[in-house]
Amino acid sequence: MVVPLLDLKAQYEQIKSEVRAAIEDVFERQQFILGRDVAALEQAIADYSTTQHAVGCASGSDALLLALMALGIGRDDEVITTPFTFFATGGSIARLGARPIYVDIDPETFNIHPSALEQAITSRTRAIIPVHLFGQMAEMDEIMDIANRYGLYVIEDAAQAIGAEYKSRRAGSIGHIGCLSFFPTKNLGGAGDGGMVLTNDEQLAEKIRTLRVHGGRIEYVYKMIGCNSRLDELQAAILRVKLKYLDDWTERRRVNAAIYDRLFLEYGLSEHVKTPVRRDYCRHIFHQYTVRVTRREDLINWLKEHKIGCKIYYPLPLHLQECFAYLGYKPGDLPVAEQAAREVLSLPIYPELTEEQIHFVVRTIAKFYDHR
Ligand SMILES: *Cc1c(COP(=O)(O)O)cnc(C)c1O
Repeated sequence: MVVPLLDLKAQYEQIKSEVRAAIEDVFERQQFILGRDVAALEQAIADYSTTQHAVGCASGSDALLLALMALGIGRDDEVITTPFTFFATGGSIARLGARPIYVDIDPETFNIHPSALEQAITSRTRAIIPVHLFGQMAEMDEIMDIANRYGLYVIEDAAQAIGAEYKSRRAGSIGHIGCLSFFPTKNLGGAGDGGMVLTNDEQLAEKIRTLRVHGGRIEYVYKMIGCNSRLDELQAAILRVKLKYLDDWTERRRVNAAIYDRLFLEYGLSEHVKTPVRRDYCRHIFHQYTVRVTRREDLINWLKEHKIGCKIYYPLPLHLQECFAYLGYKPGDLPVAEQAAREVLSLPIYPELTEEQIHFVVRTIAKFYDHR
C-alpha cells in the first residue's frame, strides 16, 4: 500500500469534466483578468465565509500584504503574530518595513497565546495577525477583546482555515480583515497561485480593490501606490467548480481525523503520539492532521520505508530564521513554539484517503513503537 501525504490526482478524477468545461469557457470568452468568474467567486466566497466583501488577489501572501497596506501599516509599526506558521505571515509584515513581533503559542492548539500577545503590546503596536493553524481557529474572543482595548487591528491569516468556525463564526469574518490562500495544497486549492481578502468594512474593501490594480481604479489615475495582484479568471473558474465540493471534502477530512483519533487510542500509543486537541467550540477543518511524536527522525524514515507520506509543518519557527536575525531573538525565547517545531508531524488527511489507508498508517506507526 502507498499513502501519499496528499493526492490531488484522486481529487481531479472526480471533477475533471467540470473543470475542463470551466477552463474552456474562459478561453472562449478570452477575458483573463477580472472577469465574471472572479466576481462570481468573490461573491460566493464572501457568502461562504459570511463576510460582506471578498477581493480576489494573486496569492495568500499577497492577501496579507494587501491587508496590511490597506490598514496603512509600514515603517516603525509593530505587528504581533505567531512564529509557528508559514513564512508569509511574518514575511508580509517585514516586507512593508514594519516589525514582526513574535510571541509564543498555546501548546495544545499551536495557535497564538492571547496572554503572551497582550504582554507584547507597546505604543508602536498597530495590528495582530492570528493564524488559524492547521484548520482550527485561534482564540478569537480573547484576541478581539485585547485588540479592542488597545485599539489594534486584527488580520486573520485564514490561509489554512476556509470554512473553519469559532463559536459558529467563520474564519476570516471576525477580525477587521481575513486572508485566504488558494495554493494548490490548501483545502480549496486552485491550479496555481491565488488568494482572497475578506472584510465587512466597505471602505477597506474598496481600498483593497484599488491597491490590487496598482492603486488606481480609473485608468492611468493613481490615488495610492498599490501593486499588481489579481486573481486570474482561469483560477476563479476552477475554484468555482471546486467550491461546490468543499463542504463534502471538509466533512471527509473531519471523519478521517476521527478515525485516526480512535485508532491511536485503540493501539494505546498515547505515550508516543499526541493526537490533535480540538476545542469543542471550534469547527476544525483539518487542513493538516498534526501529531506530536517521540523519536521523530527515526519515525519519518520508517514511514518513508513503508511508502507513507508525512511532513514537518514547521521545522524552524520564524523568530529563529536567518532573515529575521535582525530582530534579535535567540533559541529559548519562545520555548513552546520551539518544542512544537521539534515534535510535530503531519500525517495524510486528504478527503479521498480510505479507512484502510488510515489503518495502515496507524498500524505502521504502532509497529515502529513496538506496540502489538
Ligand atoms: C499558505 C499560507 C500562506 C500563503 O499563501 P500563498 O497562497 O502560498 O501565498 C500564508 N499563511 C499561511 C498560514 C499559509 O498556510
